[in-house]
Amino acid sequence: MLAQIVESIDITTLAFSRGLMQLMLGGLLLYLGSRDQGARGARLWAAGFLFNGLSLFVFALDLPPLWETPSRIVNHMALGVSSAFFLAGFWKFGKQPGRLSLLILVVAIPAFSLLAWEWLWPNARMRILTTASSQALFLLVLQHSLAAPPRVELATIYRRLRLVVIAYLLLVVWGYGSVAEVLPTTARVDIGYHRLLFSGGSLLFMLTLAVGCLALQFALLAARSDDLAKTDWLTGLLNRRGLFQAVSERQANSAEGEGQSLIALDIDHFKQINDRYGHAAGDHVLQVLAGHLRALADTGVLVARIGGEEFSILVPDKPAEAAAALAERVRRRCDDETVVCSDGQPIRFTISAGVAEGAAVEPLEKALARADQALYEAKRQGRNQVQLA
Ligand code: GH3
Ligand code: MG
Ligand code: MG
Repeated sequence: MLAQIVESIDITTLAFSRGLMQLMLGGLLLYLGSRDQGARGARLWAAGFLFNGLSLFVFALDLPPLWETPSRIVNHMALGVSSAFFLAGFWKFGKQPGRLSLLILVVAIPAFSLLAWEWLWPNARMRILTTASSQALFLLVLQHSLAAPPRVELATIYRRLRLVVIAYLLLVVWGYGSVAEVLPTTARVDIGYHRLLFSGGSLLFMLTLAVGCLALQFALLAARSDDLAKTDWLTGLLNRRGLFQAVSERQANSAEGEGQSLIALDIDHFKQINDRYGHAAGDHVLQVLAGHLRALADTGVLVARIGGEEFSILVPDKPAEAAAALAERVRRRCDDETVVCSDGQPIRFTISAGVAEGAAVEPLEKALARADQALYEAKRQGRNQVQLA
């Protein structure tokens, strides 16, 4: 039954349909890449699929003898160029440094094999083995570059693609090895089976790779829009949603839960700044303060703009005194500085802050409310100061 099905498929038709599919997938990736300025990776993958499709088309064409050599050159070279584009695409997508020498090698090996075949040493086994080694090199390098996903959200897709690449690498070694008759299996079955299995495997690999590339591109877009939803557009700090999400991730990841301190920080008489210098100057002051917070907070400290001119700062694993010291550094920096707005007017501003310590299991809102109470006290006592809850 299976044997009949296998016998009824012919490699040429299969190659033609594979080429067609590849061109369609390349077009799809090209479209995705054209919609996104940062999607250089997707455009390089698209080129990879287009060249791969070209290579298969040329293979499937029934050409007169005169055209055999040029078509073989296009077939081999398109395959090498396609591999180079795939690698470059994954390097670009993964923000990894490119290795030009590897790209050249992936193209040069099939070029050398062709040269040898046409003019130097017409040995079919040699040609098959050099082509196979170029494909194996491509797959090994691809496998290596899939080890480090550019974002954690993409780790699962990267891991699965690695498995697919390993499986295909084994098939390439086995398939080419059998066709070149260097593996012992050839003695038992007809060589057509190897060719067909290899064609089918290549088809599955290319389809899986295309689905993987599309999935990566979509997952990246989703991760980016998730970033936007968590970020305050004016200052680039976390927004309220971003802070709460970061805190719940932190609580989920720490085994027994760690304590934290919270700072509620608010610009004094900010409404007057807006009224006197204009809304744009007010925005500028918010950005300057955000810069101070970023500069003074250690790594691991979560800084968020949770409302108009209100900020929340979460200091992990530190007592309230350490957080109060940070708040005091910010207060002094603001008090010392004169901000110059775009029309050259100097602006002075001060901040008030309240600090509270939060228990590990306590909801963030409760600790924030205590910090807010302390902030209210700082405002009541005359502003430009830090109060402990
Ligand atoms: P206090 O010292 O008691 O905090 O007084 P305040 O004037 O700072 O506080 P109030 O809550 O009365 O005013 C806050 C102002 O912040 C009012 C609002 O117009 C302004 N504001 C809120 N969001 C923005 C923003 O994104 N940009 C600018 N420029 N102003 C904003
Ligand atoms: Mg205020
Ligand atoms: Mg306020």
